[in-house]
Amino acid sequence: MPIATVNPADGETLKTFDPLSERETERRIARADAAFRAYRTTSFAERARLMEAAAGLLELDEREVARLVTTEMGKPVTAARAEVAKCVKAMRWYARHAESLLADERPDEADVRDSGAVSARVHYRPLGPVLAVMPWNFPLWQVIRFAAPALMAGNVGLLKHASNVPQTALYLEELFQRAGYAEGCFQTLLVSSGAIESVLRDPRVVAATLTGSEPAGRSVAAIAGDEVKKTVLELGGSDPFIVMPSADVAAAARTAVTARVQNTGQSCIAAKRFLVHTDVYDTFTEAFVAGMRELTVGDPLDEATDVGPLSSERGRSDLEELVNDALAQGATALCGARRPGGADRGWYYEPTVLTGITDRMRIHREESFGPVASLYRVSDIQEAIDIANDVPFGLSSNVWTHDDAEVDRFVRDLEAGGVYVNGMTASHPALPFGGVKRSGYGRELAGHGIREFCNATTVWRA
Ligand code: NDP
Repeated sequence: MPIATVNPADGETLKTFDPLSERETERRIARADAAFRAYRTTSFAERARLMEAAAGLLELDEREVARLVTTEMGKPVTAARAEVAKCVKAMRWYARHAESLLADERPDEADVRDSGAVSARVHYRPLGPVLAVMPWNFPLWQVIRFAAPALMAGNVGLLKHASNVPQTALYLEELFQRAGYAEGCFQTLLVSSGAIESVLRDPRVVAATLTGSEPAGRSVAAIAGDEVKKTVLELGGSDPFIVMPSADVAAAARTAVTARVQNTGQSCIAAKRFLVHTDVYDTFTEAFVAGMRELTVGDPLDEATDVGPLSSERGRSDLEELVNDALAQGATALCGARRPGGADRGWYYEPTVLTGITDRMRIHREESFGPVASLYRVSDIQEAIDIANDVPFGLSSNVWTHDDAEVDRFVRDLEAGGVYVNGMTASHPALPFGGVKRSGYGRELAGHGIREFCNATTVWRA
């Protein structure tokens, strides 16, 4: 993939970049290694000062950087501004909480004595330069979700961002520099995915985190495994959105629209499959389809736009193939399933609701990365759980019910990293984020996220 800014709203190539040479890449790894040796000894207070400074600068840049993001990957500019605000919040949260999250842990006194020690504790130390391979869909947030905890823990970062968001990647490097971080603490590597292997095999790079597709995750994890290096993977999802008879159906339908089309449907935690109890199916469907039809699809720089273009021509054609496969095998489109009339430029696709899905159709098991909802009628909770789990993914899940026994059952049986009750999945710095099955492993955010790239050191004293 060329490293370039190509505007998804009109397909125009605005800027191209030469990838870094091997020599320059090597120089940057050396800089990261040198930076780590000094940065690892800084106090939490110093790290917090730097992180707060970066958050303040990002906040000031909100409008400008949101336009840049929209121009590079096509999300509505209002959503891009919300992404900036979310990053600022997470940076400040980690600046405030990292020290307590990484405070020494002390086992029970009786257990300490039983181990033969006078004292014992677990002390968290940083690991070193971590490679972050990141996607274009939340080009600021995915990076900050890694960088804020990693830097607060005393690690340093090397960012290999998606090839279609190079200017956002360079902005992030510059942001941390302007905030006062020493050279080498956070660097962008403008390289193709083919260059990742040599970076990851470099002994100075100690671990990797990747958010993106399963093939990319598998490749990075295989190389890291071969080198015995830690990885965290956040891959795809096909989250269920289950509506039971006791739910507030009107609220569920309203939220369902947002949950499906957020970020033009290109979110790993977007609800993609809507499993609705037969008692409320017709009421839900009517409101949901009406809501999807009412969305404004158009220029992502227009504040009134709800749904922008897909991020790339390939992204749209992948989505079209998934929809056409379902239609060819007997699915019905209640709305959409086509490009908007008159949009001869840009990679737009209409919000779509499909019913009549069977397990022979690709869309039953694959992730639809765009504004396409799969709607299922279910007769009881067991059928909802069976269909929800009948995918290779297990990222998050949404359940709508006022029955506590049903909530307990969903929490026990849904194969997912999260269960959101009467709402939609949304990440928050204080809540761990990640999945099971082919959605990956490890957790980001909260205490779980900051400890992923730490050396939990046992200190035992006789
Ligand atoms: P990719 O997984 O291809 O891209 C994500 C990142 O991984 C990019 O930085 C990319 O670099 C890099 N990458 C790609 N291939 C490899 C590889 N073999 N080894 C190491 N790194 C690699 O996502 P796409 O943009 O192609 O999207 C395809 C699908 O992935 C989507 O339809 C969706 O299903 C899923 N996806 C999930 C995301 C999530 O949030 N969980 C985010 C984005 C995509 P480069 O850009 O240079 O290829």
